[in-house]
Amino acid sequence: MRTRLPSPSSLVRPLVSRLRAYVPGEQPRIRGLIKLNTNENPFPPSPKVLRAVRAAVDGRLRLYPNPTAEPLRGKLAALHRCRPENLIVGNGSDELLALATRAFVEPAGAERSGGQARATAQFFSPSYTLYPVLAEIAGARSNAVALAADFGLPSLAELRAGPWDFRAALTFITTPNAPSGRGYATAELEEICRAQRGVVVLDEAYVDFAGENAMALALRYPHVIVARTFSKAYSLCFQRVGYFVGHADLIAALQKIRDSYNVNGLGQVAALATLADLPYYRRGFQRIIATRQRLARGLADLGFAVTPSQTNFIFARPPKFPAEVWLEKLRERKILVRWFARPETRDFLRITIGTDGQAGALLRAARAIIAED
Ligand code: PMP
Repeated sequence: MRTRLPSPSSLVRPLVSRLRAYVPGEQPRIRGLIKLNTNENPFPPSPKVLRAVRAAVDGRLRLYPNPTAEPLRGKLAALHRCRPENLIVGNGSDELLALATRAFVEPAGAERSGGQARATAQFFSPSYTLYPVLAEIAGARSNAVALAADFGLPSLAELRAGPWDFRAALTFITTPNAPSGRGYATAELEEICRAQRGVVVLDEAYVDFAGENAMALALRYPHVIVARTFSKAYSLCFQRVGYFVGHADLIAALQKIRDSYNVNGLGQVAALATLADLPYYRRGFQRIIATRQRLARGLADLGFAVTPSQTNFIFARPPKFPAEVWLEKLRERKILVRWFARPETRDFLRITIGTDGQAGALLRAARAIIAED
C-alpha cells in the first residue's frame, strides 16, 4: 500500500513558518534608474582592486580559499593595532551578526541560568531591521527600546528608568545609526557599554563617513565587539566581506560555529587589495561627505526636515505629501529611495548619497514634485 507523502510545509519548523523574514532593499534593473535605496557607494572599487580580482580569476578557482581569511586578518590586525585572534571575517557583516546571535543568545525557554536576559537580543528602535529577525530565528526574545525623538541615545538614567535590559545577552547598537544617519559620541557609547553585562556589538557599517569611531572600545572592554564591513565605504557590496573586532575569547567562540570556508576567495582578494589602496577610498569619503552637505542644504531649502547625518545617506521628512507618496513620485521619475513602513520611520525617506550629479537630479525632481498641484 502506498503511504501518504508529507506536505512540504508541514516539514518546516513552526518558528520558521511564522518568521517575518528580513526585507532587503530592491535591486531592480531599470535603465537610467538613479538608485539611492541601499546605501551603495556611487564610486567603483579602486582600479588596483579590480586588477587584483581579475588576476585571481583563473584555474585557481577550483581550490578552496583560505579557511580563516588569515592574510586578510593579518592586515586588518595591523590596521587596527590588534592581534589576528581579535578578528573574524564574515560573508558580509550580516553573517557575523547572525553568528553572534547564535553564539551568545539562548533560545527562550532554554536558559539554564541568568533568566530571561540570557535569551534576550536587545537593540534601539529605529535601527538595523535585521536584528529582530536574527533574534526570531534564534528563538530568542527581542527587546527593542526607543531612541530619543531626535534619534539620539537615551541617557543611562533614562535607560535605567525604562525597559532597557542591562543584563541582555546581546545588545546591538548601530553607530552611526541607520536609518537616521545620526552619529553617536564614543564617550556616550562607552557609558552604555560599561553598564552592560552581556555582549555589546557596535555595528559601525557606516563609520567611515562619521567624525569618530568606537574601535578603541572593542580593544578596551572584554564584552564589546565592533562590526565593520567592506560593503559601503569600500564599494564591495557584491563581494560580501565584513569583520568583527573583539576579545579573543568571544572571537574564538564565533570561529567555532562559522562555516569552514565562509569568506569566498575573490572577496578575500578584493578586501586585501582594498587595504593596500586606502587613500583612494578616503578621497571618496570626502566627496560623499561634501555631496551630503550640499544635498542636506538643498533638501532643507525645499522644506524637508533633515536629520544631521554622519553616514552615506540622509534621513529626511518630506514636505507637502506623505513620505510613502514621495517614494512613488520619485520612482515615477526613475529615482529610487527607501521608505520604512514602521510607525517610528514612516514619515521619513532614507536617501543614499550618490554622486553630485545624482544629488542634483534628486533636488530637481523634488522641486518639480513640490510644484505639482
Ligand atoms: N549593519 C548595518 C547597519 C547595515 O545597514 C548593513 C547593510 N544592510 C549591514 C550591517 C550589513 O552589511 P554587509 O552584510 O553588506 O556587510
